Amino acid sequence: MAASPEKPASVTPRRKAGRHRGEGQWAMGHHTPLNGNEQTKKDDDGLNVRTRIETIYAHRGFDSIDGADLRGRMRWWGLYTQRKPGIDGGKTAILEPEELDDEYFMLRVRIDGGRLTTEQLRVIGEISQEFARGTADLTDRQNVQFHWIRIEDVPEIWRRLEGVGLSTTEACGDTPRTILGSPVAGIAADEIVDGTPAIDEIHRRYIGNKDFSNLPRKFKTAVSGSPLLDVAHEINDVAFVGVDHPEHGPGFDLWVGGGLSTNPKLGVRLGAWVPVDEVPDAWEGVISIFRDYGYRRLRNRARLKFLVADWGAEKFRRVLEDEYLKRPLLDGPAPQQPAQQWRDHVGVHRQNDGRFYVGFAPRVGRVDGATLTKIAELAESHGSGRVRTTVEQKMIVLDVAEDRVDSLVSGLEALDLRVTPSPFRRGTMACTGIEFCKLAIVETKGRGSALIDELERRLPRFDEPITININGCPNACARIQTADIGLKGQLMLDDEGNQVEGYQVHLGGALGLDPAFGRKVRGLKVTSAELPDYVERVLGRFQAEREDGER
Ligand code: SF4
Repeated sequence: MAASPEKPASVTPRRKAGRHRGEGQWAMGHHTPLNGNEQTKKDDDGLNVRTRIETIYAHRGFDSIDGADLRGRMRWWGLYTQRKPGIDGGKTAILEPEELDDEYFMLRVRIDGGRLTTEQLRVIGEISQEFARGTADLTDRQNVQFHWIRIEDVPEIWRRLEGVGLSTTEACGDTPRTILGSPVAGIAADEIVDGTPAIDEIHRRYIGNKDFSNLPRKFKTAVSGSPLLDVAHEINDVAFVGVDHPEHGPGFDLWVGGGLSTNPKLGVRLGAWVPVDEVPDAWEGVISIFRDYGYRRLRNRARLKFLVADWGAEKFRRVLEDEYLKRPLLDGPAPQQPAQQWRDHVGVHRQNDGRFYVGFAPRVGRVDGATLTKIAELAESHGSGRVRTTVEQKMIVLDVAEDRVDSLVSGLEALDLRVTPSPFRRGTMACTGIEFCKLAIVETKGRGSALIDELERRLPRFDEPITININGCPNACARIQTADIGLKGQLMLDDEGNQVEGYQVHLGGALGLDPAFGRKVRGLKVTSAELPDYVERVLGRFQAEREDGER
């Protein structure tokens, strides 16, 4: 049965709602007052908007869409209105939401575990070319995003996606989002454990399930059994990280409470070991705690990370075991530090079956429908029916025989998809930015791409792993806090006093090896025009002054 704000399915309210409104935790009996988002969710489950899209909005057009559906519930099906063209970043904060809304949508396709067949990739490519003006960006959560989608075309797009086993269900909204998975799960020669069965079972049981379609906010999951720690597990709400238990063998170390954006926090270990077949139950326990005890009063305090920060790992584990799983979890070891800094699987690598996988780098996640179709053709003509997306906006072709590798590499490079990219191409990511995002203040993808070209020209011999992440606003869609150089878009004044696009600089962030958030360098901002000079100076000084082994 579906949970409701009035009565969570599995929790007996501890005390009645009184005048004290608390943090809006259902399990504490705090159901009112509701903020606008909570009211929208209470009025109608976001998943129910699909019927209205199919029976009303797609026939009557954009103007027929109810406002609460347009700016709220449509996200439950991966739909956001995109930014009206021609509105500059200075107007982002001062215009009403409806003034920023274009009549076209961004549509996100969820790709759990980053797993695609070439048939699915062809369908994505076709949809892109037929309905999305050729757009198809790779995101840093292994998804694909279309732009320029008309509401009239959405039912047909769903029909085509679902015909090949893809969907947009809960790709956005206060829901369990796309489950990140190691892009080399099941094929990596060094894999500790394959998390694929757990991802599939979580998807089968819980995605599109109304028990978990009204969460306090979004809920991000990562599962990886790769020793490279290749899914940014530290910044997910719940993460299962491959470990070898000295007595029980391969399984997962359970982490909770990571997240970026405002008040970024790294996830914490619960010290618990979970075998692969118990991952779905543990996942259900964690997301149930979030649903029932998560803070709903203030939206900017609603992510699980705030509850985890207040409770601490010990209490969180106790509540999980006592109230939800009804049994203790086994203690387990922490993951090992990864042996290398690049974790994107770019390059040519031998699989556990003797064949090869080939990872390649587009520019800042920007591909298009025609290119995706060509990637599917290339993969198939080289003996592969499987491709993967990564959390670094990269892709991988699997299952290539040794004598076909060189030909595949040549074919990819001819499409400007680099198998041996420069560190700048490999390590630069950018969010959607002002081209389509209503919250954006500055441009990102074009700047990132131009920066790559400029750095390749100026620093042809630079050969260190480096990450440069570019956001179009103070949110964290491109993970700026975890980059060597994180650039947060904002408006600023140039030397002549003109308002121009620029970036607040964060330095020294990292995931994997010694995870830490970059430091905001006090007052350090660069205009977009100065960006190549600035990055060149930072990297030049790093090379000149670094100590042995310093990253
Ligand atoms: Fe939009 Fe900001 Fe996210 Fe970039 S970081 S996609 S500008 S919300």
